[in-house]
Amino acid sequence: MADLHSIVIVGNGVAGLTAGDTLRRLGYDGALTIIGEEPHATYSRPALSKVALAPGEDLDVGTLPDPTHGGTELLGRTAVGLDTDGRTVSLDDGTQVGFDGLIIAAGSHARRFTDSARELTLRSLDDAAVLKRHLLDRPTVTVIGGGPLGMEVASGAVGLGCPVTLVHPGTPMELHLGSLLGGILTDAALEQGLRVIDAMVSTVREFGEGMTVTLTDGSELTSDIVITAAGDLPNIGWLEDSGLLAGGRLIADDRCRITDRIVAAGDVTWINGPSGVGRKPIWTTAIEQGKVAAAALLHGDDAPALDHPVYFWTDQWGQSLKMSGPIPSGEEDPVVVEGDLADRAAVLHWPGSGTAAALNMRMPIPRLHRLAATETVA
Ligand SMILES: Cc1cc2nc3c(=O)[nH]c(=O)nc-3n(C[C@H](O)[C@H](O)[C@H](O)COP(=O)(O)OP(=O)(O)OC[C@H]3O[C@@H](n4cnc5c(N)ncnc54)[C@H](O)[C@@H]3O)c2cc1C
Repeated sequence: MADLHSIVIVGNGVAGLTAGDTLRRLGYDGALTIIGEEPHATYSRPALSKVALAPGEDLDVGTLPDPTHGGTELLGRTAVGLDTDGRTVSLDDGTQVGFDGLIIAAGSHARRFTDSARELTLRSLDDAAVLKRHLLDRPTVTVIGGGPLGMEVASGAVGLGCPVTLVHPGTPMELHLGSLLGGILTDAALEQGLRVIDAMVSTVREFGEGMTVTLTDGSELTSDIVITAAGDLPNIGWLEDSGLLAGGRLIADDRCRITDRIVAAGDVTWINGPSGVGRKPIWTTAIEQGKVAAAALLHGDDAPALDHPVYFWTDQWGQSLKMSGPIPSGEEDPVVVEGDLADRAAVLHWPGSGTAAALNMRMPIPRLHRLAATETVA
């Protein structure tokens, strides 16, 4: 193991937590400090748009297993700067934390159009508390964005009794799941009363007691609140003077390395891999990158490179979907391995795309991965 006696992790989300636990599992016994902006112990972020927005006042998203890393957690503290040569992280309280090795796992924040308190976003437990408080008053809602977050939030809001209009160019979820599954989830949403407008948003502004969303064709929508679910932006502002950013991105190699002593994992990270430079802001990818980053910090080239199947799930409109592999090509019809699509309960396989999905079917994730990797028709 190199001369690593003190390691700092910035970000105590699932990528940071996994990296910390992995360091210990691999035998690192030096000092470990975790800096986390949120005052909470690590929690399940995906549960925010699922469990937290379910009917009832409860916001309990459950807890993740306690960390095993035994490090010093500085919660409610934000890293505001990084001196790469001097190997120190500056915190918002004016203190500095030195390191031999650094893991950047600062995640991302929600994109938004305005600073208005009536434009809500959902990224953190605190955001979920604010959002739920609003939704329990049953306001009229405009959701901007028909990806997984927008559709899950819209589903929660409709379930809480709110009239909801969702604005999205094209069919919601299609970009994330392909046209077949995107269409099925959109049909379920329409049946439950969601109004979908196929358009792009140009501006959002406060109007009287509510909000006005202007679409690119000039038409306007008004509602009590707007929920923007239009993507996330990596938390890299504090790295601006670090010399680590390339074209405004934190780009790591396929072992999550930025330098010999600095690695990155999770939503904050762009990976320069075999298929180019890309960012995959999903839960299991953050976990896998946390493991690989920790191993690479300790063992360099001897550590394994990233090599994990992409896995994604969503719960919305009473439908539960798990998918392993890339978004299936629109050209390929899936093989129905079990169940029946007409009942919206089926295991599907796209052998040409290397993808498998379980729609409203129980299926262990390893089996789904094996099915996705099967090249012949299952
Ligand atoms: C509502 C919601 C639902 C989702 N649902 C799904 C889903 O169903 N399936 C799926 O695969 N993925 C889902 N995701 C995505 C998934 O949650 C993320 O990919 C994952 O949480 C990323 O983990 P992370 O550790 O990289 O970042 P984060 O979970 O964002 O953790 C980073 C932490 O670092 C902190 N931080 C940021 N800047 C600093 C700083 N300068 N100093 C100190 N701390 C800092 C942040 O406050 C945060 O606590 C969802 C995301 C959201 C928001």
